[in-house]
Amino acid sequence: MSELTAQRIAAHATRLGLTHLTDTFSELVARAEAGQMGYLDFLDLLLEEELGLREGRRFRNALKLSGLPHHKTLEQFDFAFQPDLDARKVRDLASLSFIGAKSNVALLGPPGVGKTMIAVALAVAACQAGFSIYFTSLDDLVRRLRGAEATGRFNRQLNFYLRPSLLVVDEVGYLPLDRAEANMVFQLVSRRYERGSMIITSNKSFAEWGSVLGDDVLATAILDRLLHHCDVLSINGPSYRLKDRMNLIAAASAATTQGGEPLPS
Ligand code: ADP
Ligand code: MG
Repeated sequence: MSELTAQRIAAHATRLGLTHLTDTFSELVARAEAGQMGYLDFLDLLLEEELGLREGRRFRNALKLSGLPHHKTLEQFDFAFQPDLDARKVRDLASLSFIGAKSNVALLGPPGVGKTMIAVALAVAACQAGFSIYFTSLDDLVRRLRGAEATGRFNRQLNFYLRPSLLVVDEVGYLPLDRAEANMVFQLVSRRYERGSMIITSNKSFAEWGSVLGDDVLATAILDRLLHHCDVLSINGPSYRLKDRMNLIAAASAATTQGGEPLPS
């Protein structure tokens, strides 16, 4: 390749915004020559390299703006620790067909069983697949909607929560809402109904949502829309947060019954 041609390719690639190609085309050409690559394969390689880099960049940026508390994946989830949870059902959800169908997922169970982790893992997978995502706790969502209402920007803030293909609302039920707040949640859920997916996590059963939302009629109206198209996963198992402590306690009591020194508490 002549120096002149190389300079022109670099200049054109830069003007076209193909930043990766600008830096790598010489090396790619060398690879193509060494592998005696055909024209089609070479073009395929160029486009794939550029797209791969852009996708990686988009994915990283989207994750940064997603509000996710961490980026754990399902591969890190120890299904053996939660034998009552149907692993196949969770892996089915990871196919993300529920997002295409605009249906919802509810993850219910006591603290520490992995509700947030599964919600995060599904959101990370969705983001990787190119869906727009956003993660918020219910508490934060309501606080921001209230703040927006006070300054006349309620609709703008509501639209922010309507935009993503997948909205995760974590920790429904930790703090009770008043009627005005429950009404905001109703507006959100009814506007997203059949238009965009939500993943909800809650430590409360649906029967308890009336008291969480401070109003049985509103709770019923919200649940009616939320559950019409919804996979519900109840996780009734031990807390992963307490796993290590439980092991310590078990070791301590084993040591005591065997007459050994009890472990320090
Ligand atoms: P929850 O939302 O149900 O209270 P989390 O998802 O926050 O629980 O889980 C608590 C902690 O334990 C997190 O750090 C999470 O990543 C981890 N965790 C929970 N369940 C598992 C599991 N089965 N395998 C691996 N890590 C887990
Ligand atoms: Mg949680």
